[in-house]
Amino acid sequence: MAYQIIPLSISAVDNIACPHCQQNVIDWIQEQYIQPCEHTLFIAMDIGFEYITDDFEQTMQRSVDDLHAHDDQVNMFAEITQSTYPNYLIFKSDLGAQGYFRYIGFTA
Ligand SMILES: [Zn+2]
Repeated sequence: MAYQIIPLSISAVDNIACPHCQQNVIDWIQEQYIQPCEHTLFIAMDIGFEYITDDFEQTMQRSVDDLHAHDDQVNMFAEITQSTYPNYLIFKSDLGAQGYFRYIGFTA
């Protein structure tokens, strides 16, 4: 496996920081709470992507447009982990709704 899952035991309203530069890539103080740093590959929820780099999208089996067009039948976690990106971390955090998670990809 080219990826490593890191489950975060935080609540849905906590900030999430990059493990490399410590920037809050989820920052609830900002008006735009998505604040990707240079190490961020994607920020996704089970229902869709909030952010993705072109580099990472090119390593996925399906395009983001295709996934969003079929978001009622897409397993986002499966799509993310089928990427051929060589090495990455997935921070998984609970969104507070049953069975819904946010996944943040960082370079390893
Ligand atoms: Zn960073």
